[in-house]
Amino acid sequence: MGNKQSTDAARRSHAMDRLLAEIRACRLCEKHLPLGPRPVLQASTTSRLLIVSQAPGRKVHETGIPFNDPSGDRLRDWLGIDKPTFYDADRVAIVPMGFCFPGTSKGGDLPPRPECAPAWHPRLLPLLKQVRLTLLIGQYAQAGMLGVPRGTRLTDTVQGWREYLAYDRLPLPHPSPRNRLWLKRNPWFETELLPVLRERVTAALADTG
Ligand code: SF4
Repeated sequence: MGNKQSTDAARRSHAMDRLLAEIRACRLCEKHLPLGPRPVLQASTTSRLLIVSQAPGRKVHETGIPFNDPSGDRLRDWLGIDKPTFYDADRVAIVPMGFCFPGTSKGGDLPPRPECAPAWHPRLLPLLKQVRLTLLIGQYAQAGMLGVPRGTRLTDTVQGWREYLAYDRLPLPHPSPRNRLWLKRNPWFETELLPVLRERVTAALADTG
């Protein structure tokens, strides 16, 4: 790495540290958060894989560790990576559409707070210059990052995965155990998409150039 490149890398890394500290102190939508702000995310300027998810659930809020639940176990299985790799921010960035637990309603967790991604993503995502593959988990991430129109069925978006993969992006369903029925109804997800997903994740993490 030349002098200029290493200076740029150090500058980006400082900018990331400052931004993460700012995000962790955020109280922008605190009046809407039943358990108060606790932003849960991980990112580094060297992250190769970017996971854009929905918002932390209650258990993740309590521990402060993203995907520290049965959904996370399933997601790691889909990706073919272990916990040490998954939680290594230098390799994997986990950036939800809403960083804090938004609370629940009768049907389950509420949507990510709408203030969050517009406030922080435009500052955070440009610092992730080494990302080789971006995974969009669930409808909110797919609407926000792929421009999928509201009302589009998640199945239709995920079924179009080959088109998005051409741009190093991949839409996925939420790995929640609640989606077991969806997985059963869509066997192509496991037989066609998952092998490609694992291959691309391995390649992205191995690409240190
Ligand atoms: S959800 Fe986002 S905008 Fe709201 S307090 Fe947490 S970090 Fe700030």
